[in-house]
Amino acid sequence: MAQQKLHFYQGVILNPQSDKKCDYYPSGLLVVEKIGKHSKIKDILSLTLGLKKYQKKMTQKNTVDFGTSVIMPSFFDMHFHWVQDDVRQMPKDSLLGWLEKYTFPTEMKYSEKAYAEKKAEDFFKHLIRTGTMGGACYSSIHEHALVAAMKHVKGDFVIGNVLMNMNSPLELVQSEKDSLGLTKRLLKKFGARHAFTPRFAITTTPKVMLEGSKLADKAKAFKQTHLSETTQEIDFVLSLYRALPGFEKVSSYTEIYEKTGMLGKRSLMGHGIHLSNKELKVLNKTLTSVIHCPTSNAPHEEYGLGSGLFDFKKIEKNKVRWALGSDIGGGPFLSMFDVMRSFVQQNQRQRISGATYVKALYRSTLAGAEILEQKKTGNLNINKEANFIVVPAHGKAKTAEELLKKIIIPHENKRGAYDDLVTAVYHHGHNVFQKSVKL
Ligand SMILES: [Zn+2]
Repeated sequence: MAQQKLHFYQGVILNPQSDKKCDYYPSGLLVVEKIGKHSKIKDILSLTLGLKKYQKKMTQKNTVDFGTSVIMPSFFDMHFHWVQDDVRQMPKDSLLGWLEKYTFPTEMKYSEKAYAEKKAEDFFKHLIRTGTMGGACYSSIHEHALVAAMKHVKGDFVIGNVLMNMNSPLELVQSEKDSLGLTKRLLKKFGARHAFTPRFAITTTPKVMLEGSKLADKAKAFKQTHLSETTQEIDFVLSLYRALPGFEKVSSYTEIYEKTGMLGKRSLMGHGIHLSNKELKVLNKTLTSVIHCPTSNAPHEEYGLGSGLFDFKKIEKNKVRWALGSDIGGGPFLSMFDVMRSFVQQNQRQRISGATYVKALYRSTLAGAEILEQKKTGNLNINKEANFIVVPAHGKAKTAEELLKKIIIPHENKRGAYDDLVTAVYHHGHNVFQKSVKL
């Protein structure tokens, strides 16, 4: 009989379960069985119980002691543009202005294959180091850039090339035929890992959204786009569509996506800040998810686009599914720790209760996995894959909430440090990143 390959990880453990619940082991043990390229969490328990149960099997070789550092699941970033890495910290006066001035010219550079390949290699290496190993990602219009991203990404991601047929710079416009041909080809090549990605209703024709949605549905693939990020965008989109045949009477941005087949249980709508109750009812009925990107929506002085505060209470009251995303490059930093911080602090400043770190962690991990139908990841429950990260924490904490504060708050004034916070990353039980110790 083959010997069971058990591995033991000692440390402080956080295991998110819901908005209100995060299992917390101040001194815990994670037991992992490695099975080829995969793994299985066999147990998660307090160290005291763990030693009673497993001490005989624990050796110096199969045990790692992380001391006072925290073991927690890796993140899901449910909305980001990997091709916008270079515009994260550019001046952001307005969404449409920033797109035109910085983002579109940057995305044009990805027309060069060698450039896209090198960028993909660097970006996804960086992403792993920040502890993100799942989510939904936008690429540029170029096929080879998407292929490069698929090659270098590690984890449970869906990625799509943006589709742009109108109101876009000449270098980034595709014909409807090209957009649909590309969608067909990429769905065939990557299956449901490919996400159907009209950039937003302003740049993508109804025909492409309608026909592409059908192709995505048939392949059981995800769809992603942007919805109601700024009021200026909403005014523009409504005036644009009301002049198009069949859309003369549309009353909302959401209705445009409803009419073009873009809503559904595998649909991810980025932002959704300015939504009416009527629109939220449609999103609820269609099981569509909204992805909230607090660092991107934050005021200009926090390097955001100043789009407004996402009303998570209104979203939850209407029972709309939602998760967190960084919206790189609308958001300035890759780390989901910075996204969690921004979500909590922006709500706290407005004296809105309920925006806790426990909630932020759930919405950055398990909620994303649930939306992406990833049953094996998202937290550290028994039988799941061992996808986890290790981060330092200083001082003792009584609760998960207090511990998360101890991890996050010390870096609030140098936010770039969040990208370097993670000291180790494990994917399917294998150590894929280890921070070198500075002597
Ligand atoms: Zn975006």
